[in-house]
Amino acid sequence: MSDMSALLKRWEPVIGLEVHAQLSTTTKMFCGCRNAYGDQPNSHTCPTCLGLPGALPVANEQAVLFALKLGLAVGSEITQFSRFARKNYFYPDLTKGYQISQYDEPLCSGGSVTIRWEGRSQEIPLTRIHIEEDAGKSIHDEKGDGTRVDFNRCGVPLVEIVSEPVIRSPQEAKAYLTRLKQILEYLNICDCNMEEGNLRCDANISIRPRRETKFGVKTEMKNINSFRGVERGLMSEIFRQAEVLDGGGEVEQVTLLWNEVEQKAEVMRSKEEAHDYRYFPDPDLVPLSVSESDLEEVRSFLVELPHEREERFVTDYSLKEDDAVILASETPLSAYFEATIEAGAPASTAAKWILGEVLSIVKEEGVSMESFPASPKSLVGLLQSVIEGEVTVVTGKEVLREMVSSGLSASEIIEKEGLAQVSDASALSETVAKVLEENPDELKRYRNGKKALFGFFMGEVMKASGGKSDPKVTQKLLTEALNGID
Ligand SMILES: [Zn+2]
Repeated sequence: MSDMSALLKRWEPVIGLEVHAQLSTTTKMFCGCRNAYGDQPNSHTCPTCLGLPGALPVANEQAVLFALKLGLAVGSEITQFSRFARKNYFYPDLTKGYQISQYDEPLCSGGSVTIRWEGRSQEIPLTRIHIEEDAGKSIHDEKGDGTRVDFNRCGVPLVEIVSEPVIRSPQEAKAYLTRLKQILEYLNICDCNMEEGNLRCDANISIRPRRETKFGVKTEMKNINSFRGVERGLMSEIFRQAEVLDGGGEVEQVTLLWNEVEQKAEVMRSKEEAHDYRYFPDPDLVPLSVSESDLEEVRSFLVELPHEREERFVTDYSLKEDDAVILASETPLSAYFEATIEAGAPASTAAKWILGEVLSIVKEEGVSMESFPASPKSLVGLLQSVIEGEVTVVTGKEVLREMVSSGLSASEIIEKEGLAQVSDASALSETVAKVLEENPDELKRYRNGKKALFGFFMGEVMKASGGKSDPKVTQKLLTEALNGID
């Protein structure tokens, strides 16, 4: 794909994403079964989610509130009476023979997601957000010994978030998906674990000559389940379409399946095989009614959004934009950062230490930010020791690691390990200068040749620092100062 950039000079990609996010509700969308991942297969099923005859679905209020939270957060228009529809198709992991979704009357229309793209804020408009249920999971035996189906996922609530086809590159698609994930996490409505399938993405892709306004023929790529997949999958499809068109051919309207393991797309079906889902309103479910008081209630749960937090961090704490973006990327990290400031650390010092030492310990130790062993208050204790020159930055970093492993406070470690000796040159040179200033006669005599007075000065500095000054550093600084080298 080395000639990708040359290719993109001629062709403009047009991308729209459909993201499915599993809502982290207690129970499933239309029954009381638990919504849980990783449990014994088929341990959370009932007649409703297994689609047995006569079982009736009832919409999950918590799922509707979660979807409304998202809709209001991204500024969608909320439909007062939206409707559930049956999407009819056959697949072994869908026992009813249809999926309950929303069709022409979705819960949310419009709205937009604010992403950071090429150093600026950019709006990605949304077409709609609707509620639907997930299907079961087919587990294909690796040895080819058949397929088993786990229905624990069948009936788990999903929101499908459909963007307008305004995305113009795979990287921008990734930035959009990243932002969407952050919003879902901020709102605390989805676990967003892509490996567990909480967040899945389908893409519509077409290309057109630069400066052309008409859309080209689009293909659909399904099953993109990682951030890497979004970039790679879209890239490979753009490349394929450009090759077809450059060769004088025509792009066929096909559905592709992204193979995460082999990192390539496979044709799943052509236009002729396209499904007619025969959508119709589900007669078992009443229209979903949302009142103004429901909306008021949901509004009271809304939180600051990721792009708003980034801006606030830049404005309130004078952070660099790139630093603000990382610190605002996850709520636990933002909370830790702000608690550190609250406990008395200067914002720039807090940002520097958290982005550097704290995050590298988090990565090395594989701990989460929520359970980071050194509390913001204890980090401030350490930062104060560093700022006051009690320990050097290098020692401070070691102390932090020990705080994490031992659970002791910075001062306890500094005392226990005898780290408090003043070896910090800047703090010590102040003491040295003070001693020289206070003993002008001795200084004069020393400079006139009475070198034996060196011991006297050493003693004075040690006394002034309460015996905590590092002798080696003191000797060096004192020699420089006595000989007039500042
Ligand atoms: Zn059930």
